[in-house]
Amino acid sequence: MIFDLVIVGGGLVGATLAADLGQRGFHLGLLEARPIPPLPDTGFDLRVSALTRATQHVLESVGVWELLPAERVHPFRQMVVWEVPEAGEVHFDSADIAEPALGHIVENAALQRALDTRLSQLDGVEIFRPVKFETLMLEAMRAAVVVDGKKIYAPLVVGADGSRSRVRELAGIEVQEAAYGQRAVVATVTVSRGHGDTAWQRFLPNGPLAFLPLPGEHASIVWSTTPAHADALKQMSETSFVAALEDAYEGRLGEVKLAGPRAAFDLTSIGARDYVGRRVALVGDAAHTVHPLAGQGVNLGILDAASLAEILGAARDAGRDIGRAHTLRKYQRWRKGHNAVMRAALSGFNWLFGGHSGALRDARNMGLRVTNQIPPLKRLLMRYASGLSGDLPAAATPRDYRKAMAQRDARSV
Ligand SMILES: Cc1cc2nc3c(=O)[nH]c(=O)nc-3n(C[C@H](O)[C@H](O)[C@H](O)COP(=O)(O)OP(=O)(O)OC[C@H]3O[C@@H](n4cnc5c(N)ncnc54)[C@H](O)[C@@H]3O)c2cc1C
Repeated sequence: MIFDLVIVGGGLVGATLAADLGQRGFHLGLLEARPIPPLPDTGFDLRVSALTRATQHVLESVGVWELLPAERVHPFRQMVVWEVPEAGEVHFDSADIAEPALGHIVENAALQRALDTRLSQLDGVEIFRPVKFETLMLEAMRAAVVVDGKKIYAPLVVGADGSRSRVRELAGIEVQEAAYGQRAVVATVTVSRGHGDTAWQRFLPNGPLAFLPLPGEHASIVWSTTPAHADALKQMSETSFVAALEDAYEGRLGEVKLAGPRAAFDLTSIGARDYVGRRVALVGDAAHTVHPLAGQGVNLGILDAASLAEILGAARDAGRDIGRAHTLRKYQRWRKGHNAVMRAALSGFNWLFGGHSGALRDARNMGLRVTNQIPPLKRLLMRYASGLSGDLPAAATPRDYRKAMAQRDARSV
Protein backbone atom coordinates (compact mmCIF):
# COMPACT_ATOMS: atom_id res chain seq x y z
CA MET A 1 0.00 0.00 0.00
CA ILE A 2 1.29 3.48 -0.83
CA PHE A 3 0.01 6.74 0.66
CA ASP A 4 0.96 10.42 0.33
CA LEU A 5 1.61 10.28 4.06
CA VAL A 6 0.84 8.27 7.19
CA ILE A 7 -0.28 9.86 10.47
CA VAL A 8 0.26 7.82 13.62
CA GLY A 9 -2.23 8.86 16.34
CA GLY A 10 -5.79 10.00 15.69
CA GLY A 11 -6.27 12.04 18.89
CA LEU A 12 -7.49 15.64 18.69
CA VAL A 13 -4.32 16.82 16.93
CA GLY A 14 -3.70 13.90 14.55
CA ALA A 15 -7.37 13.84 13.49
CA THR A 16 -7.33 17.62 12.84
CA LEU A 17 -4.23 17.22 10.67
CA ALA A 18 -5.91 14.35 8.79
CA ALA A 19 -9.03 16.48 8.22
CA ASP A 20 -7.00 19.43 6.92
CA LEU A 21 -4.86 17.30 4.59
CA GLY A 22 -7.84 15.16 3.51
CA GLN A 23 -9.66 18.35 2.56
CA ARG A 24 -6.64 19.41 0.50
CA GLY A 25 -6.93 16.16 -1.47
CA PHE A 26 -4.12 14.14 0.12
CA HIS A 27 -4.40 10.37 0.19
CA LEU A 28 -3.40 9.43 3.71
CA GLY A 29 -3.50 6.61 6.23
CA LEU A 30 -4.39 7.36 9.87
CA LEU A 31 -3.35 4.78 12.47
CA GLU A 32 -5.11 4.88 15.84
CA ALA A 33 -4.84 2.44 18.75
CA ARG A 34 -8.13 3.28 20.51
CA PRO A 35 -11.77 2.94 19.43
CA ILE A 36 -13.88 6.10 19.01
CA PRO A 37 -14.64 7.36 22.55
CA PRO A 38 -18.26 7.17 23.75
CA LEU A 39 -20.10 10.35 24.76
CA PRO A 40 -22.13 10.07 27.97
CA ASP A 41 -25.92 10.14 27.42
CA THR A 42 -26.34 12.30 30.50
CA GLY A 43 -23.78 14.60 32.04
CA PHE A 44 -20.43 15.54 30.56
CA ASP A 45 -17.22 13.86 29.43
CA LEU A 46 -14.72 14.11 32.28
CA ARG A 47 -12.08 15.53 29.92
CA VAL A 48 -12.77 18.95 28.48
CA SER A 49 -10.54 21.45 26.68
CA ALA A 50 -10.54 25.23 26.62
CA LEU A 51 -10.26 25.94 22.89
CA THR A 52 -8.94 29.28 21.71
CA ARG A 53 -10.48 31.42 18.98
CA ALA A 54 -7.59 30.42 16.69
CA THR A 55 -8.41 26.73 17.22
CA GLN A 56 -12.07 27.47 16.51
CA HIS A 57 -11.06 29.05 13.19
CA VAL A 58 -9.01 25.96 12.25
CA LEU A 59 -11.90 23.63 13.16
CA GLU A 60 -14.28 25.82 11.13
CA SER A 61 -11.97 25.75 8.14
CA VAL A 62 -11.79 21.93 8.19
CA GLY A 63 -15.58 21.58 8.54
CA VAL A 64 -15.56 20.22 12.10
CA TRP A 65 -16.83 23.10 14.25
CA GLU A 66 -20.30 22.89 12.69
CA LEU A 67 -20.47 19.18 13.55
CA LEU A 68 -20.09 19.84 17.29
CA PRO A 69 -23.44 19.49 19.13
CA ALA A 70 -24.34 22.95 20.49
CA GLU A 71 -24.95 21.55 23.98
CA ARG A 72 -21.34 20.25 24.12
CA VAL A 73 -19.74 23.67 23.49
CA HIS A 74 -19.81 26.52 25.98
CA PRO A 75 -18.26 29.97 25.49
CA PHE A 76 -16.21 31.71 28.13
CA ARG A 77 -16.40 35.46 27.74
CA GLN A 78 -14.44 36.44 30.80
CA MET A 79 -11.58 35.15 32.88
CA VAL A 80 -10.73 36.01 36.48
CA VAL A 81 -7.30 35.17 37.92
CA TRP A 82 -6.28 35.74 41.52
CA GLU A 83 -4.19 34.45 44.37
CA VAL A 84 -5.25 36.20 47.56
CA PRO A 85 -8.50 38.21 47.22
CA GLU A 86 -7.33 41.28 49.12
CA ALA A 87 -4.14 41.41 47.03
CA GLY A 88 -5.99 42.05 43.76
CA GLU A 89 -7.05 40.07 40.71
CA VAL A 90 -7.04 40.31 36.93
CA HIS A 91 -10.30 40.42 34.94
CA PHE A 92 -10.14 39.64 31.26
CA ASP A 93 -13.18 40.40 29.11
CA SER A 94 -13.59 39.39 25.45
CA ALA A 95 -15.45 42.66 24.78
CA ASP A 96 -12.15 44.51 25.33
CA ILE A 97 -10.67 42.80 22.25
CA ALA A 98 -13.92 43.02 20.27
CA GLU A 99 -14.36 39.24 20.27
CA PRO A 100 -17.63 37.48 21.18
CA ALA A 101 -15.74 35.09 23.50
CA LEU A 102 -12.22 34.41 24.73
CA GLY A 103 -12.74 30.78 23.75
CA HIS A 104 -14.98 27.75 24.28
CA ILE A 105 -14.99 24.81 26.64
CA VAL A 106 -15.60 21.65 24.62
CA GLU A 107 -15.89 18.04 25.79
CA ASN A 108 -12.95 16.09 24.35
CA ALA A 109 -15.10 13.08 23.36
CA ALA A 110 -17.53 15.39 21.50
CA LEU A 111 -14.68 16.98 19.55
CA GLN A 112 -13.10 13.60 18.83
CA ARG A 113 -16.41 12.29 17.49
CA ALA A 114 -16.97 15.40 15.34
CA LEU A 115 -13.46 14.94 13.89
CA ASP A 116 -14.15 11.28 13.17
CA THR A 117 -17.42 12.17 11.42
CA ARG A 118 -15.58 14.68 9.25
CA LEU A 119 -12.85 12.16 8.40
CA SER A 120 -15.48 9.64 7.29
CA GLN A 121 -16.66 12.22 4.70
CA LEU A 122 -13.19 12.59 3.14
CA ASP A 123 -12.44 10.09 0.37
CA GLY A 124 -8.66 10.36 0.65
CA VAL A 125 -8.52 9.45 4.37
CA GLU A 126 -8.18 5.76 5.28
CA ILE A 127 -8.47 5.01 8.98
CA PHE A 128 -6.85 1.93 10.52
CA ARG A 129 -8.31 1.44 14.00
CA PRO A 130 -7.71 -0.07 16.41
CA VAL A 131 -4.09 -0.79 15.40
CA LYS A 132 -0.93 -0.37 17.39
CA PHE A 133 1.93 1.19 15.47
CA GLU A 134 5.23 -0.44 16.43
CA THR A 135 7.60 -0.54 13.46
CA LEU A 136 9.08 2.29 11.43
CA MET A 137 11.57 1.95 8.57
CA LEU A 138 13.18 5.13 7.33
CA GLU A 139 14.83 5.22 3.94
CA ALA A 140 16.24 8.10 1.92
CA MET A 141 13.20 8.46 -0.35
CA ARG A 142 10.38 6.98 1.75
CA ALA A 143 9.29 5.61 5.09
CA ALA A 144 7.41 2.40 5.82
CA VAL A 145 5.18 1.29 8.70
CA VAL A 146 3.72 -2.15 9.32
CA VAL A 147 -0.03 -2.49 9.92
CA ASP A 148 -1.61 -5.89 10.52
CA GLY A 149 1.47 -7.53 9.05
CA LYS A 150 1.33 -5.44 5.84
CA LYS A 151 3.83 -2.74 4.88
CA ILE A 152 2.52 0.75 4.12
CA TYR A 153 4.85 3.13 2.29
CA ALA A 154 4.76 6.92 2.26
CA PRO A 155 7.23 9.75 1.73
CA LEU A 156 6.36 11.07 5.22
CA VAL A 157 5.22 9.69 8.59
CA VAL A 158 3.76 12.16 11.10
CA GLY A 159 3.91 11.32 14.80
CA ALA A 160 0.72 12.60 16.46
CA ASP A 161 0.90 9.81 19.00
CA GLY A 162 1.04 11.81 22.21
CA SER A 163 3.61 12.53 24.88
CA ARG A 164 5.07 8.97 24.91
CA SER A 165 5.40 9.03 21.11
CA ARG A 166 6.71 5.79 19.62
CA VAL A 167 7.33 7.57 16.29
CA ARG A 168 9.59 10.05 18.10
CA GLU A 169 11.44 7.21 19.81
CA LEU A 170 11.91 5.14 16.64
CA ALA A 171 13.06 8.22 14.72
CA GLY A 172 15.73 8.73 17.41
CA ILE A 173 14.51 12.23 18.34
CA GLU A 174 15.54 13.16 21.87
CA VAL A 175 13.37 15.01 24.37
CA GLN A 176 13.92 17.37 27.24
CA GLU A 177 11.63 16.32 30.04
CA ALA A 178 10.90 17.91 33.42
CA ALA A 179 8.27 16.66 35.84
CA TYR A 180 6.30 19.49 37.49
CA GLY A 181 6.00 17.43 40.65
CA GLN A 182 2.24 17.96 40.28
CA ARG A 183 -0.81 15.89 39.42
CA ALA A 184 -4.05 17.41 38.09
CA VAL A 185 -7.39 16.29 39.54
CA VAL A 186 -10.32 16.75 37.17
CA ALA A 187 -14.06 16.51 37.88
CA THR A 188 -17.41 17.96 36.83
CA VAL A 189 -19.29 19.97 39.45
CA THR A 190 -22.23 22.34 39.76
CA VAL A 191 -21.92 25.77 41.35
CA SER A 192 -24.99 27.35 42.99
CA ARG A 193 -24.10 30.99 42.19
CA GLY A 194 -23.55 30.27 38.50
CA HIS A 195 -20.25 30.71 36.69
CA GLY A 196 -21.27 33.75 34.61
CA ASP A 197 -19.61 32.28 31.46
CA THR A 198 -16.33 32.99 33.20
CA ALA A 199 -13.20 30.84 33.52
CA TRP A 200 -12.06 31.21 37.13
CA GLN A 201 -8.50 30.48 38.19
CA ARG A 202 -6.99 30.76 41.63
CA PHE A 203 -3.30 30.20 42.31
CA LEU A 204 -2.90 28.15 45.48
CA PRO A 205 0.44 27.36 47.17
CA ASN A 206 0.56 23.83 45.65
CA GLY A 207 -0.67 24.82 42.19
CA PRO A 208 -3.55 26.44 40.28
CA LEU A 209 -7.25 25.49 40.56
CA ALA A 210 -9.49 26.32 37.59
CA PHE A 211 -13.29 26.28 37.19
CA LEU A 212 -14.20 26.12 33.50
CA PRO A 213 -17.82 26.94 32.58
CA LEU A 214 -20.05 24.26 31.03
CA PRO A 215 -23.75 24.58 30.10
CA GLY A 216 -26.15 25.45 32.93
CA GLU A 217 -24.57 25.64 36.35
CA HIS A 218 -21.98 23.00 35.50
CA ALA A 219 -18.25 23.57 35.57
CA SER A 220 -15.21 21.43 34.96
CA ILE A 221 -12.46 21.72 37.55
CA VAL A 222 -8.74 21.19 37.00
CA TRP A 223 -6.84 21.25 40.28
CA SER A 224 -3.05 20.96 39.89
CA THR A 225 -1.39 20.09 43.15
CA THR A 226 1.22 17.82 44.76
CA PRO A 227 0.80 14.11 43.92
CA ALA A 228 0.00 13.26 47.57
CA HIS A 229 -2.66 15.99 47.80
CA ALA A 230 -4.10 14.98 44.41
CA ASP A 231 -4.43 11.36 45.53
CA ALA A 232 -6.09 12.48 48.77
CA LEU A 233 -8.52 14.73 46.81
CA LYS A 234 -9.38 11.83 44.52
CA GLN A 235 -9.99 9.35 47.31
CA MET A 236 -11.69 11.50 49.98
CA SER A 237 -15.46 11.38 50.46
CA GLU A 238 -17.67 13.53 48.24
CA THR A 239 -18.53 15.76 51.21
CA SER A 240 -14.87 16.37 52.04
CA PHE A 241 -14.01 16.98 48.37
CA VAL A 242 -16.65 19.67 47.80
CA ALA A 243 -15.74 21.24 51.17
CA ALA A 244 -12.10 21.40 50.00
CA LEU A 245 -13.20 23.03 46.72
CA GLU A 246 -15.45 25.60 48.44
CA ASP A 247 -12.67 26.37 50.88
CA ALA A 248 -10.11 26.82 48.08
CA TYR A 249 -12.52 29.22 46.32
CA GLU A 250 -13.58 30.93 49.54
CA GLY A 251 -17.19 30.20 48.62
CA ARG A 252 -16.95 32.54 45.63
CA LEU A 253 -19.06 30.38 43.32
CA GLY A 254 -21.51 29.37 46.08
CA GLU A 255 -22.32 25.80 47.01
CA VAL A 256 -20.41 23.20 44.99
CA LYS A 257 -21.79 19.71 44.20
CA LEU A 258 -19.93 16.86 42.55
CA ALA A 259 -21.61 15.80 39.27
CA GLY A 260 -19.50 12.84 38.18
CA PRO A 261 -16.33 10.83 38.82
CA ARG A 262 -12.87 12.23 39.62
CA ALA A 263 -9.61 11.39 37.79
CA ALA A 264 -5.97 12.47 38.15
CA PHE A 265 -3.22 13.02 35.56
CA ASP A 266 0.53 13.42 36.10
CA LEU A 267 1.89 16.67 34.70
CA THR A 268 5.17 16.70 32.80
CA SER A 269 6.79 19.27 30.57
CA ILE A 270 8.23 17.72 27.42
CA GLY A 271 10.00 19.37 24.50
CA ALA A 272 11.34 17.38 21.55
CA ARG A 273 14.82 18.59 20.55
CA ASP A 274 13.70 18.42 16.91
CA TYR A 275 10.19 18.42 15.45
CA VAL A 276 11.40 16.73 12.29
CA GLY A 277 13.76 13.93 11.31
CA ARG A 278 14.41 11.87 8.21
CA ARG A 279 10.93 11.43 6.61
CA VAL A 280 9.30 12.18 10.00
CA ALA A 281 7.50 15.16 11.58
CA LEU A 282 6.00 15.48 15.07
CA VAL A 283 2.87 17.41 16.04
CA GLY A 284 0.98 18.03 19.30
CA ASP A 285 1.98 16.30 22.52
CA ALA A 286 4.48 14.16 20.60
CA ALA A 287 6.49 17.37 20.11
CA HIS A 288 5.67 19.26 23.33
CA THR A 289 3.56 19.15 26.47
CA VAL A 290 2.83 22.22 28.59
CA HIS A 291 1.29 22.87 32.01
CA PRO A 292 -2.54 22.89 31.73
CA LEU A 293 -2.85 26.14 33.74
CA ALA A 294 -3.61 28.23 30.65
CA GLY A 295 -5.37 25.46 28.67
CA GLN A 296 -2.93 25.65 25.74
CA GLY A 297 -1.89 22.02 24.99
CA VAL A 298 -4.45 21.06 22.35
CA ASN A 299 -4.43 24.58 20.98
CA LEU A 300 -0.68 24.54 20.30
CA GLY A 301 -1.05 21.08 18.73
CA ILE A 302 -3.87 22.20 16.44
CA LEU A 303 -1.76 25.16 15.29
CA ASP A 304 1.08 22.68 14.58
CA ALA A 305 -1.36 20.64 12.50
CA ALA A 306 -2.66 23.64 10.53
CA SER A 307 0.89 24.94 9.92
CA LEU A 308 2.20 21.56 8.76
CA ALA A 309 -0.84 21.05 6.49
CA GLU A 310 -0.25 24.48 4.92
CA ILE A 311 3.42 23.73 4.25
CA LEU A 312 2.75 20.24 2.87
CA GLY A 313 -0.07 21.58 0.67
CA ALA A 314 2.22 24.25 -0.80
CA ALA A 315 5.05 21.71 -1.38
CA ARG A 316 2.69 19.29 -3.12
CA ASP A 317 1.20 22.09 -5.27
CA ALA A 318 4.73 23.08 -6.32
CA GLY A 319 5.38 19.47 -7.35
CA ARG A 320 7.93 18.90 -4.58
CA ASP A 321 8.53 15.80 -2.42
CA ILE A 322 6.60 16.57 0.79
CA GLY A 323 8.95 14.53 2.97
CA ARG A 324 12.21 16.17 1.97
CA ALA A 325 14.29 17.78 4.71
CA HIS A 326 14.00 21.33 3.33
CA THR A 327 10.17 21.23 3.50
CA LEU A 328 10.08 19.70 6.96
CA ARG A 329 12.58 22.20 8.36
CA LYS A 330 10.20 25.03 7.35
CA TYR A 331 7.61 23.49 9.68
CA GLN A 332 10.14 23.18 12.51
CA ARG A 333 11.21 26.83 12.11
CA TRP A 334 7.58 27.96 12.17
CA ARG A 335 6.42 26.11 15.26
CA LYS A 336 9.29 25.08 17.53
CA GLY A 337 10.31 28.53 18.77
CA HIS A 338 6.72 29.61 19.46
CA ASN A 339 5.91 26.43 21.38
CA ALA A 340 9.17 26.59 23.37
CA VAL A 341 8.33 30.14 24.50
CA MET A 342 4.85 29.08 25.60
CA ARG A 343 6.22 26.02 27.40
CA ALA A 344 8.80 28.09 29.28
CA ALA A 345 6.29 30.83 30.11
CA LEU A 346 3.76 28.37 31.57
CA SER A 347 6.42 26.54 33.58
CA GLY A 348 7.60 29.96 34.81
CA PHE A 349 4.08 31.02 35.86
CA ASN A 350 3.56 27.76 37.69
CA TRP A 351 6.86 28.22 39.54
CA LEU A 352 6.28 31.93 40.23
CA PHE A 353 2.93 31.24 41.88
CA GLY A 354 4.13 28.12 43.72
CA GLY A 355 4.28 28.45 47.53
CA HIS A 356 7.03 31.05 47.95
CA SER A 357 6.65 33.56 50.69
CA GLY A 358 7.55 37.18 51.41
CA ALA A 359 8.89 39.47 48.72
CA LEU A 360 8.12 37.18 45.78
CA ARG A 361 4.48 36.80 46.80
CA ASP A 362 4.13 40.56 47.22
CA ALA A 363 5.75 41.14 43.84
CA ARG A 364 3.50 38.71 41.96
CA ASN A 365 0.35 40.12 43.58
CA MET A 366 1.47 43.59 42.63
CA GLY A 367 1.96 42.18 39.12
CA LEU A 368 -1.67 41.01 39.05
CA ARG A 369 -2.92 44.42 40.30
CA VAL A 370 -0.80 46.34 37.82
CA THR A 371 -1.81 44.05 34.92
CA ASN A 372 -5.45 44.65 35.76
CA GLN A 373 -4.94 48.41 35.56
CA ILE A 374 -3.19 48.50 32.17
CA PRO A 375 -5.81 47.85 29.45
CA PRO A 376 -3.29 47.64 26.53
CA LEU A 377 -1.30 44.99 28.43
CA LYS A 378 -4.48 43.05 29.17
CA ARG A 379 -5.53 43.23 25.53
CA LEU A 380 -2.09 41.97 24.47
CA LEU A 381 -2.30 39.03 26.90
CA MET A 382 -5.84 38.19 25.80
CA ARG A 383 -4.95 38.22 22.12
CA TYR A 384 -1.91 36.03 22.81
CA ALA A 385 -3.85 33.54 24.99
CA SER A 386 -6.70 33.40 22.44
CA GLY A 387 -4.14 32.47 19.79
CA LEU A 388 -4.97 35.62 17.81
CA SER A 389 -1.46 37.05 17.60
CA GLY A 390 1.77 35.77 16.15
CA ASP A 391 2.59 34.11 12.86
CA LEU A 392 -0.59 32.09 12.31
CA PRO A 393 -1.40 29.58 9.57
CA ALA A 394 -4.16 30.88 7.27
CA ALA A 395 -6.67 28.34 8.65
CA ALA A 396 -6.32 29.87 12.15
CA THR A 397 -7.38 33.34 10.99
CA PRO A 398 -11.05 34.43 10.93
CA ARG A 399 -13.15 33.25 7.97
CA ASP A 400 -13.78 36.86 6.77
CA TYR A 401 -10.07 37.55 6.75
CA ARG A 402 -9.35 34.35 4.80
CA LYS A 403 -12.03 35.27 2.28
CA ALA A 404 -10.61 38.79 1.83
CA MET A 405 -7.10 37.37 1.30
CA ALA A 406 -8.38 34.85 -1.27
CA GLN A 407 -10.17 37.66 -3.15
CA ARG A 408 -7.02 39.80 -3.07
CA ASP A 409 -4.94 36.87 -4.41
CA ALA A 410 -7.50 36.22 -7.15
CA ARG A 411 -7.39 39.90 -8.20
CA SER A 412 -3.58 39.90 -8.36
CA VAL A 413 -3.41 36.82 -10.66
C1 LIG B 1 -5.71 17.77 33.18
C2 LIG B 1 -5.44 18.31 31.81
C3 LIG B 1 -6.20 19.37 31.32
C4 LIG B 1 -5.96 19.88 30.05
N1 LIG B 1 -6.71 20.93 29.62
C5 LIG B 1 -6.44 21.47 28.41
C6 LIG B 1 -7.20 22.58 27.92
O1 LIG B 1 -8.11 23.09 28.59
N2 LIG B 1 -6.89 23.10 26.69
C7 LIG B 1 -5.88 22.58 25.93
O2 LIG B 1 -5.61 23.10 24.84
N3 LIG B 1 -5.16 21.52 26.36
C8 LIG B 1 -5.41 20.95 27.57
N4 LIG B 1 -4.69 19.87 28.00
C9 LIG B 1 -3.66 19.28 27.12
C10 LIG B 1 -4.27 18.35 26.10
O3 LIG B 1 -5.08 17.38 26.73
C11 LIG B 1 -3.20 17.67 25.24
O4 LIG B 1 -2.27 18.63 24.82
C12 LIG B 1 -3.85 17.03 24.00
O5 LIG B 1 -4.76 16.03 24.36
C13 LIG B 1 -2.79 16.44 23.08
O6 LIG B 1 -3.42 15.91 21.94
P1 LIG B 1 -2.59 14.96 20.96
O7 LIG B 1 -3.57 14.53 19.91
O8 LIG B 1 -1.31 15.59 20.56
O9 LIG B 1 -2.15 13.71 21.86
P2 LIG B 1 -3.08 12.60 22.55
O10 LIG B 1 -4.36 13.14 23.03
O11 LIG B 1 -2.20 11.91 23.55
O12 LIG B 1 -3.42 11.60 21.35
C14 LIG B 1 -2.47 10.69 20.86
C15 LIG B 1 -3.23 9.60 20.13
O13 LIG B 1 -2.29 8.68 19.59
C16 LIG B 1 -2.72 7.35 19.83
N5 LIG B 1 -1.54 6.51 19.90
C17 LIG B 1 -0.51 6.61 20.79
N6 LIG B 1 0.42 5.66 20.54
C18 LIG B 1 -0.04 4.95 19.47
C19 LIG B 1 0.47 3.84 18.73
N7 LIG B 1 1.65 3.27 19.03
N8 LIG B 1 -0.27 3.34 17.70
C20 LIG B 1 -1.46 3.94 17.35
N9 LIG B 1 -1.98 4.99 18.02
C21 LIG B 1 -1.28 5.49 19.06
C22 LIG B 1 -3.47 7.43 21.16
O14 LIG B 1 -4.40 6.37 21.28
C23 LIG B 1 -4.14 8.80 21.06
O15 LIG B 1 -5.42 8.71 20.49
C24 LIG B 1 -4.91 19.34 29.26
C25 LIG B 1 -4.15 18.28 29.74
C26 LIG B 1 -4.40 17.76 31.00
C27 LIG B 1 -3.56 16.62 31.52
